[in-house]
Amino acid sequence: MAAVQEAPRADLRPKRIRNFIKPLLVKPNTKVRLPQSFDPAFTAGFNSEDGVGAQEVLRQGVQLLSEYQDRLAAQNKYCLLVILQAMDAAGKDGTIRHVMSGVNPQGVDVHSFKAPSTEELDHDYLWRYNRRLPERGKIGIFNRSYYEEVLVVRVHPAILEREQLPPEDVGPDMWRRRFREINNWERYLTDNGFRIVKLFLNVSKDEQRRRFLARIDEPEKNWKLSTADAQEREYWDDYQQAFSDVLSNTSTEWAPWYVIPADRKWFARIAAAAVIADALIAIDPQYPTVTGAARAGLKEVRRQLQSEAQRGRKRSKKAA
Ligand code: ATP
Ligand code: MG
Repeated sequence: MAAVQEAPRADLRPKRIRNFIKPLLVKPNTKVRLPQSFDPAFTAGFNSEDGVGAQEVLRQGVQLLSEYQDRLAAQNKYCLLVILQAMDAAGKDGTIRHVMSGVNPQGVDVHSFKAPSTEELDHDYLWRYNRRLPERGKIGIFNRSYYEEVLVVRVHPAILEREQLPPEDVGPDMWRRRFREINNWERYLTDNGFRIVKLFLNVSKDEQRRRFLARIDEPEKNWKLSTADAQEREYWDDYQQAFSDVLSNTSTEWAPWYVIPADRKWFARIAAAAVIADALIAIDPQYPTVTGAARAGLKEVRRQLQSEAQRGRKRSKKAA
């Protein structure tokens, strides 16, 4: 009889997950230089041909996330904010879809931030993000975020002009100031029940070219590519520099950045799931225990439900 091949099991012990994501962490106060510092094609020794194995690992990771999310919601004390930043076609949407596929939709809020409206431009730059923060017990995902304020806004000075800033607030120092303000804001949030993880999906310029071409060549993908995306690609080096500066200055103990290698989609999904799982494991949410009068109340309800069933049985015996 042929031996039955067991599907590979992911090692989901907390320590293993932590070790797995360690190489992806941007250590606070270290200087990041893209593209040298992080390899977009890194797969942590996973075999890229092992598609089924990767799917199985992801499936188990997603299951783990779902269990933790249930506890997070029940405990209703902490919330998790997941920030996703990337160049176009790095796979933000697909990552969210796959990683969150098993999680109760009521427990997750996803917000995609586009170019700001006139109303949003009439407020301070964190205003619109503050309004979309998750409530306690929830996982909030920001598909793009306030980090655009030190990325696209930095790469395109014309956008800054639309932000109506007082002249004394604008100048070469302003990026350093925004980094400080963002770090402080995230510190404030973590002091008030938030846990924050930030994922930079790191795709290579070559892989982006391949994905853009596929979006042109495959009709059902045409809608995903705009000429604006191709124009943004012209600024690749400026973005790499801006991202390097963001990663170097805003990865903190309380809101760390992880660089998710994004050239292999299957690996990016496993890595993103692992980072989010690690954050939930650190929260370690517990189901509330019901004690005292509330517990006694439940026992009383139980007694009533049981006697109701007994009465029901007696009635149906009589009728028969
Ligand atoms: P997809 O293309 O997969 O639908 P996307 O996130 O690229 O997702 P788009 O509508 O293509 O969505 O792009 C959103 C645009 O909004 C990006 O070019 C981004 O840089 C821009 N944007 C986001 N936040 C800001 C901001 N604060 N200021 C200016 N532009 C912003
Ligand atoms: Mg886009």
